[in-house]
Amino acid sequence: MKIWLDGKLVDESEAKISVFDHGILYGDGIFEGIRCYNGRVFRLDEHIDRLFLSARAIVLKMPWSRDEIARHVCETCAANRIRNGYIRLCVTRGPGELGLNPYLSPNPSMFIIAASIKLYPDEHYQNGLSIITCASRRPTPGSLMPQVKSLNYLNNVMAKVEAIQGGVLEAVMLNEQGYVAECTGDNIFIIRKNKLYTPLISDGALDGITRDVILELAEKLGIPYEERTMSRYDLYTADECFLTGTAAEVVPVVELDRRIIGDGKPGPHTRALLDAYHDLTNSTGTPIPL
Ligand code: PMP
Repeated sequence: MKIWLDGKLVDESEAKISVFDHGILYGDGIFEGIRCYNGRVFRLDEHIDRLFLSARAIVLKMPWSRDEIARHVCETCAANRIRNGYIRLCVTRGPGELGLNPYLSPNPSMFIIAASIKLYPDEHYQNGLSIITCASRRPTPGSLMPQVKSLNYLNNVMAKVEAIQGGVLEAVMLNEQGYVAECTGDNIFIIRKNKLYTPLISDGALDGITRDVILELAEKLGIPYEERTMSRYDLYTADECFLTGTAAEVVPVVELDRRIIGDGKPGPHTRALLDAYHDLTNSTGTPIPL
């Protein structure tokens, strides 16, 4: 496998960064998870926009332009002959002294991995996922800005541990006020009385690219939608529930905290949105020159 690292495509065995990189020492950095389908990178501009917003939020000056990054993403896919896959793009603060001061690390590193990913077994896309609510909370805007897709995922990793130890694969994370924010690596949606709802970004949800696509598709399919503050009551009493993410795509949820949601099967709106999502991912995107 070839990895793009600081301007070069290198062999996986040579793709190494310094132990003094602040991305490793302090989780000081940002990332994006991107998908390509049928030789096209899906929503690449949107991922690059979010990457630059994350960079700005953590005062990380990007030495690469948007166009350069787009080109390098495509080059990495092409070098690995990946037409359908998952791309992980990370920007670290770069090597520096021990000590937090990011201004002493003026040379960020970027690496791009083009590989494949399978988040959930197929049966869950067919029959739906069972999830739980976990005790780990989404950070508040006053701590770790929840909008920044940073290399600090320990909180989400711990939430994932709770899910797995609870016998399921995913967990709902609440914010400090007890309202629903999202899941450990996915946004959450419900359907009630033929209307689609998802938590507000200001309630701690990541501004997910798939979340945006789903809202666009809802509009196209004539499903009314609303972003609003949601509690577990809304989830427990929903007709349908599903999760969205670049890696997970759209995955139905049929059980939360051992309570059946709706009739315990993926519902018609979830299926319609899932199909529309697949149609879109298979037919649009930035071409990879293979
Ligand atoms: N929430 C979190 C915490 C995430 O890490 C992700 C991405 N894996 C998402 C939501 C979904 O965002 P996107 O649709 O942009 O992949």
